Order: sequence, then C-alpha cells, then structure tokens
Amino acid sequence: MFYPILFFIFGLFWGSFLNNIAYRLKTGEDFFFLRSKCPSCQAVLSPKELIPILSFIFLKGKCLHCQTKISLRYPLTEIFTGLWVFILYLKINPLINFNFFLIFLFYFLLLSGIFVLALYDLDTFLVDDRILVFLLVIGIIFNVLIYFQKLSPLDFSYIFNYFLPFPFYLQNLFSAFIFSSFLFLFYLLTKGEGLGFGDVKTIFVIGLFFKPGDMSLILVFSSFLGSLYGIYLLIKNKKFKIPIPFVPFMFLGIISLFIFGKILTFNFFNIY
Ligand SMILES: [Zn+2]
Repeated sequence: MFYPILFFIFGLFWGSFLNNIAYRLKTGEDFFFLRSKCPSCQAVLSPKELIPILSFIFLKGKCLHCQTKISLRYPLTEIFTGLWVFILYLKINPLINFNFFLIFLFYFLLLSGIFVLALYDLDTFLVDDRILVFLLVIGIIFNVLIYFQKLSPLDFSYIFNYFLPFPFYLQNLFSAFIFSSFLFLFYLLTKGEGLGFGDVKTIFVIGLFFKPGDMSLILVFSSFLGSLYGIYLLIKNKKFKIPIPFVPFMFLGIISLFIFGKILTFNFFNIY
C-alpha cells in the first residue's frame, strides 16, 4: 500500500496546482510564476497555508489574513484529485515497466487537462482553447508513438476494440473523428442548446486517447451521469433549459471506464 498512498498524497498537491491553473485561466493571471494569493484580500500565502487539506483544517476554513471563508471547493478538488491519481495508479501501474510508465504519464496529463477544463466549465460554461491545444499536442504525440510501435496502448474494456477492421494504430484516430462527428451532428440538430461546440472539441481530444469501444463506454457513462444531474436540477428548480456543463461528466465518464469498463463488459465478451 506504500506506493498507492504516495500517489494519493502527490494527487492532493497536484489538485491544489490544477485548481490554481483553472482559477488563473479565469482571471487571466500568470500561470506559473506567481505566488498563490488569497482571492479575497490578495495576501500572498506562506507555505504553511498551502498544505492540501491540512491547511484548510488548521485555518478552520478561513483566510489567516482577512478571515474570509475559504471555499470548500479547494479541499474537495484536492481530495478528488488524490482519489483519481490513486485510481489511475491502480489501473496503470507506472512502476511495472517503461511502457506502463509512459502510458501512465499520457493518461495523467489527459486527466489533468480535462480536470482543469471541467473546473473552468463549472464556472464559465466555456471550454478553454489553450488547454485543448495542449491536450491535442499530447494526443498527437501519443498516437505517433503508437504508430511507430514505441508504445503499446491499453484496453479499458472488452467491447469491439478487437472487432474493428482498422489496424490498432488507427483506432484512436477513428474514435476522435467518429465520436466528435456524432456530437457535432447533435450540436447542429439541437442548435447548440444541449451541447456547446467546446464539448465537441473536447470529445475529439479525448478520442485520441481511447479505442472506439472504450470511447463509446465513456460517452454512455458521461451522458448517463449528466442526465441524472439534469433530472436533479429539473426537480430542484422546476424549470427546463438550465445549462449543464458537460466536461465534468466527460471526466467522470473516463474515471468510470477505468473502474467499471472491464467488469461490465467481461461477461459479454465471455459468451463468445
Ligand atoms: Zn484573505
């Protein structure tokens, strides 16, 4: 249990970093070369105020300088990031060999990028193009490495990843194009009411990392969770047409694939 816990703790710090990036995308501040500040009084935070979770507990959820309440969002994103890094470690153990290490790194960057997009989407209902371009570049490098057989991609479920008439190195490209086309069609038909164009671009980028069978499961999971949330909002607010940020559900869709992908499709595959 030593390494999984180590990755969980690293995830807590990483979550705090990602939260900062999402916040600075929104405010337009410098990304990397700026000390963390209290969003309320602008006081520069000292290292002891920056320890994930613990600082929040010791400061009793208040800024040391101005006593303004710190949003629960900070400790929650830290714990959540700790959890998804932990799950990713259990799914793709980077310590097995160099191939697993590289694959872990690619999915770690993908999930980090989508996580920032999700936080940003929750606040603004927009998808940030700078993060998308970053993920696009990572996705292209991933596929180039697969093409030159420097990397053997993993399967996260057992459904039709094996049955498509494509060589394995084209499957991710096929995912990216086919699923973003579906969503684009849906976007056109609903005239952007149900889905933004940013969601279409995000699906393209995610598709670069998954085979078609895995990608279809991601979409099933994310639409299912998204509709549950939609129903919840409908009951709570009693009105239609409340915008729902979709990127957070795509993130949860990927995590659900990691956890349930093989369990849910194993029996199906076993019949044959
Ligand atoms: Zn303050």
